[in-house]
Amino acid sequence: MMYYSTNGKAPDATLEKAVVRGLAEDRGLYMPRSLKTLPEHFYAHIHEMDFRDIACTAADALFGEDIAPDVLHRMVRDTLSFDCPVVKVEDGIWSLELFHGPTLAFKDVGARFMARMLGYFASGREINVLVATSGDTGSAVANGFLGVDGVRVFVLYPKGKVSPIQECQFTTLGHNITALEIEGNFDDCQALVKNAFMDAELRAALPLTSANSINVARFLPQSFYYFNAYARLREQVFDGEPVMCVPSGNFGNLCAALFAAKMGLPLRRFIAANNANRVFFDFLQTGRYSPRASIQTLANAMDVGDPSNFARIFELYGRDAERVRAQISGAFVDDATISRSLRECLAANGYLLDPHGACGYRALKDGLQPGETGIFCETAHPAKFKEKVEAITGSEVAVPERLAAFMRGRKQSVALGREYQGFREYLMEYK
Ligand SMILES: *Cc1c(COP(=O)(O)O)cnc(C)c1O
Repeated sequence: MMYYSTNGKAPDATLEKAVVRGLAEDRGLYMPRSLKTLPEHFYAHIHEMDFRDIACTAADALFGEDIAPDVLHRMVRDTLSFDCPVVKVEDGIWSLELFHGPTLAFKDVGARFMARMLGYFASGREINVLVATSGDTGSAVANGFLGVDGVRVFVLYPKGKVSPIQECQFTTLGHNITALEIEGNFDDCQALVKNAFMDAELRAALPLTSANSINVARFLPQSFYYFNAYARLREQVFDGEPVMCVPSGNFGNLCAALFAAKMGLPLRRFIAANNANRVFFDFLQTGRYSPRASIQTLANAMDVGDPSNFARIFELYGRDAERVRAQISGAFVDDATISRSLRECLAANGYLLDPHGACGYRALKDGLQPGETGIFCETAHPAKFKEKVEAITGSEVAVPERLAAFMRGRKQSVALGREYQGFREYLMEYK
């Protein structure tokens, strides 16, 4: 399978090149040239298959031309060392629980898969992964890559803007993982990473790649759990087409759901749930995309003012705002509504949401039409945002042991400013 750039000014890339480079030469995002529709008999029997078998079938369609089946299936099975169950919250509303992985957030799936694929393609070379994070990406990527030979990971995060628990998950690991604490916001971190990729001299000295959701090896495997979610819902009760609601920041997760639908997965339509960072919502209303600076909210992993995967979504629908609108509706949920929804869902259903899942729950509940059934992604465990969730609900949140273990580690990070020059000089020391 060849991959083209959304900016249209770079040559097509092989899977290996797309994964190792991350971003195309023209700063565009790689898109697969074609997508295989999975056969009818797969969908007819999907609810009789388990998660790993479903994922292997989807992986064959996405990556099977480039990687031998035994190697690919090993990557898939190693990645999916945990489940992504679909749980009933109330009538018509189901939660796709994506927090059962090692760092308790959905990004574990993409990060673990990418680490394995990059390790496979690296074979002998020394590769440096740069990753900007607003919280959960850093922990998922750092843990996904921890101890992978020949890969060094630099996690850039905005000082004071990630929760203490999130910070522990990528600053306490050591080994091949280095945390860089940036004096700025998430967009500054993302800009530093993008600048490094455009710096030919730096790249000549130091092989660089990205593990942000722009990487095809991170966002495409997230489609696995959408196929599985459909199967598990159908297995339990429902054989119609569910509405899929995705709490979105950089839009990698929603993108994966859209790709699954392009491969024939019967999802009825999509709801993109934003927090107060409502650039995508405004795009749906006006047809114009106007990025702006991000603002801080309770759902901080979604505090993104210029979502990088917007380009992919636009491309997927032929750069036609009307066609985007026909498939995806938007919603934005402000902090007061996040708090209210979290309390409401706990009181009515005994189901504790995290602030990101609360955006999804709210947007789905308000957006469902009579007769529709919907699934929202619960993208992280509430204990990852313990202080916030306790302040909202007034009751204590139990911390799972695998999270508590991170809290006992020693924080190690390097403080850097938001100017590119300082970051560049720092990296150059590693050449
Ligand atoms: C990253 C993240 C999101 C946003 O996902 P995108 O793929 O960037 O849209 C939502 N919730 C949580 C908990 C996250 O970590």
